[in-house]
Order: sequence, then structure tokens, then C-alpha cells
Amino acid sequence: MGAESLITTLQWAAFFWGAAWGSFLNVVIYRLPEGLSVVTPGSHCPQCESPVRWYDNIPCLSYFILRGRCRNCQEPFSVRYALIEITCGVLSLALFRSTALPLSEETLLSGMGTWLWLQVFVFGLVAITFIDLKHLFIPDEISISAMVIGVAGAYALPNMDGHTAALGMGAGLGFMLAVAGLGWLVYRREALGLGDAKLMGMIGAYLGWKALPFVLFASAVQALVAVGITRAWSKLTGVESDLTLTTEELDAHFGEEDRYEEQDLEPRLVVPYGPFLALAAIEALFFGSDSIWWLAEWMANKLVGGL
Ligand SMILES: [Zn+2]
Repeated sequence: MGAESLITTLQWAAFFWGAAWGSFLNVVIYRLPEGLSVVTPGSHCPQCESPVRWYDNIPCLSYFILRGRCRNCQEPFSVRYALIEITCGVLSLALFRSTALPLSEETLLSGMGTWLWLQVFVFGLVAITFIDLKHLFIPDEISISAMVIGVAGAYALPNMDGHTAALGMGAGLGFMLAVAGLGWLVYRREALGLGDAKLMGMIGAYLGWKALPFVLFASAVQALVAVGITRAWSKLTGVESDLTLTTEELDAHFGEEDRYEEQDLEPRLVVPYGPFLALAAIEALFFGSDSIWWLAEWMANKLVGGL
């Protein structure tokens, strides 16, 4: 095999490797919040409970071969399953290209190691995004494990800096805990979840503290835009927006209606924030987070110039 075709083959392998993890993440997203085992039993159709055969469980391909339906009962599967597999395939391929290529003997081990290490980060972010959207919490199993692997991996990998990762984790956790404490003082309720703080610790461990201002800024802007769009959409179509809910609905979701009535507070609008932190972290990973420092410098210059 020539060098060119070897690299093409490796890139296809990287894509399907990621898609296979996406297939596993679908199981994690579905089962972890319910407290079920992610290993046993094997996948089965949620409608007719018939087990999914191995040849119907090929990442990406099976969805299209079966046209998104169960082979047994023809019940349509959510397109989300295929989307998560494709997303993970693309993320794995993009990481492979940026860490393991170009192939060379000296950098092969560290390149592959970095590729695997970063997969824990991006696949963790994908799982957190979909679990938080549906269940309104971020499982510690994912955020804390990824935090630990983030720092440990940075110390172990020769091309990464452990101190940067440890400092980043501390900065992410510390900042968000401070904001959560402030939110508690002002609103007398959890304005910002502890899950978001652990997620920010995980992001800091992988990206370093310098990326955190970008992640905060970009996630806030994108959350505002998404809320604006979904609210406008639900006004136009009359379909209820499922991205936003009131504090009253949030408490009802966690079975805490009583506490709500006790405190006699005005209902406020809340949005699951984890998906937006995750999105901004992916943007910072692939496109860099320096833009926020340029913006800060430009604004500082304007300010000084205006005086
Ligand atoms: Zn079925």
C-alpha cells in the first residue's frame, strides 16, 4: 500500500472508530440518567424490545440501510441516533487529522495518545449535551472522569503540559463555584448548577485557563441567540419551546414543587447551559480561543483612545 492510500484508509478508520463510539454514546445518553447498565443488555428496539442484530448495528450505515426503522416492527428510530454517530465520526476524524497526521515515527505514539486523550473530551461533551438537554443535569460519571483523565493525560503526554491542565481545571471549577455562590445569594436558588461548574473544570483541564473567557463569552452569546430563535419560533408556530422552561417547571422536574411554594418567588426563565458550554469548548478546541483576547485588547485600546 502506498503512503497516500494508507493515510486515506487510516482516515476512514478514524471516522468509523468515532461513529462506533457515537453508537455507544447513544446507549449512554439513553441509559445513564435512568441508572441502567450501559453494557448489558445489548441494544434492543424501544418499541418491540427485539434485540438489534450485530449486522443491523453498524454505525451510520445501518440507519440508512434500514431507512431509520426497526427490522422487526418497522417502528421509526429517532434521526438523533444517526446524527450523534455521524457527529462523533467527524469529530474523531478531525482530531485524527490535527493530532496524528502527518505520520512520522517520532511523533506516532504521542500523536495517537493525544488523539485518544482528546476523544474522551469531545465524546464526553457530546454525551453531556444530549443528557443535559433532556434530563436537565450533567452526570458526574462523565464530567469528573473526564476532568481526571484530562489532567492525568496532560501530565503523561510528552507534548502536553500537566500544570496548565491542573491550573485550567482549578480556574474553571473555582470561577463557576464563585458564580454559583453569588447566584445563590442574589436569587436564593441554584441559578447555576454545580454540574456546570464540573463541566467548566473539565473544559479548563483540556483547554487551559486562557480558553475559559472565550468559552464563557461564546456560550452566553450562543445561548441568547438560541433562546431568541426558539422563542420567536414558538410564537410564530404556537409549538412550545423545549429549550427554555421556568424555575417552576424546573423544580417540578426534580420533584421539588414544595420548596418552590415555600419560598414564594417569581418564576424565572432557565435554559440548560451545559450544551452551550460544550459547543463553545468544541469551537475553542478546533478554531482557537484567542479571538476573545484580541477583542479585549481592541476594546481596551478604544477605551484608552477615547480618554
Ligand atoms: Zn422494533
